[in-house]
Amino acid sequence: MKEIAIVGGGPAGALCGERLASAGFQVTIYDERLVWEKPCGGGLTHKAIEAYPFLLDSPQPKKIVRKAELISSSGHRAQFEMNHPIVIYARKVLNGLLLDRAIAAGCAAVCSRVTNVKTNGPRVSLMAGGEERFSDFIVLAAGARNQLLPETTALGSKDLEVTLGYFVPTEEDIIKVKFLKQFEGYLWSFPRADHLSVGICAKMGQTSTPVLRGHLDAFFEEEKIPRAGAQFYSHVLPSPQAKTIRSRKIMGRNWAMAGDAAATVDPITGEGLYYALRSGDLLAQAIAAGQPELYPEQLRAAFSADLEFAANIAKKVFRGTFLGGAITTRMVQLLNYSPAFRDLIRDVFSGSQDYRSLKRRLWNQLGITVAEFTRSFLDPRTIACARASAPSSADNREP
Ligand SMILES: Cc1cc2nc3c(=O)[nH]c(=O)nc-3n(C[C@H](O)[C@H](O)[C@H](O)COP(=O)(O)OP(=O)(O)OC[C@H]3O[C@@H](n4cnc5c(N)ncnc54)[C@H](O)[C@@H]3O)c2cc1C
Repeated sequence: MKEIAIVGGGPAGALCGERLASAGFQVTIYDERLVWEKPCGGGLTHKAIEAYPFLLDSPQPKKIVRKAELISSSGHRAQFEMNHPIVIYARKVLNGLLLDRAIAAGCAAVCSRVTNVKTNGPRVSLMAGGEERFSDFIVLAAGARNQLLPETTALGSKDLEVTLGYFVPTEEDIIKVKFLKQFEGYLWSFPRADHLSVGICAKMGQTSTPVLRGHLDAFFEEEKIPRAGAQFYSHVLPSPQAKTIRSRKIMGRNWAMAGDAAATVDPITGEGLYYALRSGDLLAQAIAAGQPELYPEQLRAAFSADLEFAANIAKKVFRGTFLGGAITTRMVQLLNYSPAFRDLIRDVFSGSQDYRSLKRRLWNQLGITVAEFTRSFLDPRTIACARASAPSSADNREP
């Protein structure tokens, strides 16, 4: 196989193209918009920076954030410094950086919408800009809304989240995440170089858009985020069920999917950039090695087994209770009272703690966490401090 067509020039398609062109393939990337401000937080965790250091070293504008704040549904707050910073890009900048690298490696980039893909002939055929083009293999990296589905099924509403939010022209240095009562999703504020990405995500079909907008408005009020010049956005995000991760077909004889199209997104946090890059990278490696059929297995070994585990616990994380309160509230409280738990959350946030070993780590340090919590909780200074920062509304109060 010599000629590869890639549909989608986002992180998955651009990195896959760069790697394939560097390995000597003739690669054409088709994207209907090429470099654009895709609705996104734009946050890259430590595991992404570790795997792709150019994301930190590049001269492009970005924000390096070390501090985060979690806010419970009842208003408890916990701030912490992360062990490794989160690097936040505007997507137009990130996509531009990745596409420039792909083009420098030898890819051709065509600004055109692909409307049809046929994979049942001797060569792959695709329709772009009203013309039929041919290739030996096609990579579908066209994102969550991808309609090009040779031999596979679309992601259903149970595998998707709705997101809506605003790009706000103001500056901040802290990431904020707020949980809501019995709600599978969260609100966020991510600071970028010269603006914020503020938004809300929720399981598709569980909450109506007006209600989501109401939560978002309240978040703007509570966090005193200015509205002037804010630009609205909305997009879908994969939030795959365990069975989708385990069994959805993501490749065939002459085609494969990467990134959001393959639903490589963390179903709890919504992190997709690292997995888009890594899936594009792994697919390119498998094609270059002449064994594209190994790609699903390699994806599973690299991270999709972990994402499947996350999908199995996602509902419990957002809706579960522990010691009479919401798990998310307990998490915020433990962050304040237990240094060992704070260390664990720092690692989860920076992406250096996987889900499968999280349970073991939680159990192993449970004794320390409880001792620290009790000691800190009974400290008169902590009690005074907790009283001062306790949520004011009686409706919201949780023990
Ligand atoms: C609101 C929101 C916030 C998010 N925040 C974060 C975050 O902070 N950190 C994080 O890690 N992840 C985040 N994500 C997830 C992240 O945005 C995605 O996982 C990531 O963009 C996936 O990359 P991709 O290359 O697979 O797809 P995309 O980035 O969606 O790229 C797909 C490309 O395909 C093109 N395309 C689509 N159809 C066609 C067609 N028919 N023909 C030609 N071109 C086509 C599009 O123009 C697009 O450029 C967020 C997602 C949303 C919606």
